[in-house]
Amino acid sequence: MVKVRLATPVLKENEVAAQENRVRFEEAGVFVLNLMSSPGSGKTTILERTLEHLSGRLKVGVIEGDIYTTRDAERIERYDVPVVQINTAGTCHLDARMIAPVLEDFDLEALDLLIIENVGNLVCPAEFDLGEDARAVVLSITEGNDKPMKYPLVFRLAQVVLINKLDLLPHTDCDLELLEKDLHLVNPELKLFRVSARLDQGFQPWIEWIEEQVRLKRHDS
Ligand code: MG
Ligand code: ZN
Repeated sequence: MVKVRLATPVLKENEVAAQENRVRFEEAGVFVLNLMSSPGSGKTTILERTLEHLSGRLKVGVIEGDIYTTRDAERIERYDVPVVQINTAGTCHLDARMIAPVLEDFDLEALDLLIIENVGNLVCPAEFDLGEDARAVVLSITEGNDKPMKYPLVFRLAQVVLINKLDLLPHTDCDLELLEKDLHLVNPELKLFRVSARLDQGFQPWIEWIEEQVRLKRHDS
């Protein structure tokens, strides 16, 4: 028999740090988005397209979570936004204590939006509150139909799912209607946006959603 212990003390510490981050974001009036997905879903490309669409409209900062490399951060730097890399050195998720020191590198008060690209992993990032306002999951149609049912937590705790790589639909076995139905079974509140990051298609509703959240956050603070 395998003994299973839940990592509750770690998560408790994380909750304290997440709450501190949340207070900091509230003071600054910055809307914070935790961007999550499995590896290879097109998360960084989605982020690049999003920065293009928001250019000149919102002041955006980016935190790039990666296990070892700075490749994604280098891609984001080209968009002329402040970006800070966190290398987790083997850890497969970001936690709230990794975020806190990095916030000193931003002029948070000057930002409208802070996007945190989490480590590519559908499992444990879901368990770690970073103090964000909302979570968006990128799910590409090349990942198969069973992700919502296999990894329900990440979808249950998200507000948005960006269904990516729509341009590849004819070349896959993905049943888009079934996929969306399963996502709504797991979380009926989810907003679903169909996009192709590669072709820059379908971004308008997503961009409008972000701008609305930023407006709401400003009014709150
Ligand atoms: Mg990436
Ligand atoms: Zn992890």
